[in-house]
Amino acid sequence: MSDIFNFCAGPAMLPQAVMQKAQQELINWNGLGVSVMEISHRSKEFIALTQHAEKTLRELMNIPSNYHVLFMHGGGRGQFTSVVNNFLGDNGKALYLVNGQWSSAAVKEAVKIVGENNIDQINIVEKQDGLNQVVLPDLHKLDGDYRYVHYCANETVDGIEIFDDLDSPWPVVVDLSSTIMSRDIDVSKYAVIYAGAQKNIGPSGLSIVIVRDDMLKLPSLTQSSIMDYSVAQANDSMFNTPPTFAWYLAAEVFDWLSAQGGVKAMEALNKQKAALLYQCIDNNPFYTNGVAIHNRSRMNVTFQLVDSSLDGEFLKQAEQAGLVALKGHRIVGGMRASIYNAMPLEGVKALVTFMEAFARQYK
Ligand code: PMP
Repeated sequence: MSDIFNFCAGPAMLPQAVMQKAQQELINWNGLGVSVMEISHRSKEFIALTQHAEKTLRELMNIPSNYHVLFMHGGGRGQFTSVVNNFLGDNGKALYLVNGQWSSAAVKEAVKIVGENNIDQINIVEKQDGLNQVVLPDLHKLDGDYRYVHYCANETVDGIEIFDDLDSPWPVVVDLSSTIMSRDIDVSKYAVIYAGAQKNIGPSGLSIVIVRDDMLKLPSLTQSSIMDYSVAQANDSMFNTPPTFAWYLAAEVFDWLSAQGGVKAMEALNKQKAALLYQCIDNNPFYTNGVAIHNRSRMNVTFQLVDSSLDGEFLKQAEQAGLVALKGHRIVGGMRASIYNAMPLEGVKALVTFMEAFARQYK
């Protein structure tokens, strides 16, 4: 067992039990005498693994039968491109809501492919009483013939999360990279859900796409077959050789999550973890957080030291205490504690104890 608590935003820590199991069976998986990395993706053993992975994910997220589950290449950004390529053929238009770094990066990618005239964007973050908060526009009042509206439910860098459902006349495409399976969501409210794996699913590179079947009928742009959702769907996500080890680990994480009681149990624990940390920040004048309470991310808790000249010392002492990867993203500075599903409550308690002790040193 490691004494380290790893708060990295991604690639993030994976459940320790999963890592230990993977270690044990690394060179002899399923009694085959070889690693899961070394077998054909078309072998009956691997296909059984993929079927089990999909079944477990469908149960965990309660995914209706008119949705396809795809295991794709390219991480989160890969889907920024794929969403456009798959749905915006024949001069289609889309609307993007922007609430931070990742939704903004998605817009840039979309504009690059179909040009500014086909992408509308609305900034949905407002400052109120010095705090960033999301104000969702009334989409029903907008004119526009959009194929979809895209947003990012949890901005990993900014620590801004949208918990409200989007009431939209157009199909909703959501980036759930850093919040998938951290809380219960109603999949039927979305047309497409995608997530890079490296936070709540498994190793980076892999991404999960959950797509409603009618979306696959939209005209697409000419694109690479390996990023084409229809091709992936027709080939059980195996048009070419998939990232098999990542898929295997994802399946193990899904099993682990089920054994923890599923998404609802995880949501309760995540609420408890986030509340502890935000309480520590709010109760201590040494720390601040610039996000309105109802948009505070449960997965990425950003905070600043009021005296930022102590940032380096904070990070140094935290590391000595076994609390690593707390430095905020270079764009926003300060600190960020990413507390995804795999972070145990003890990790958050250890961080809170450290933060309180650190603040006392400078009283
Ligand atoms: N969307 C969100 C919300 C993210 O947090 C990230 C990565 N941190 C991405 C997209 C991009 O993912 P990737 O690096 O796998 O392309």
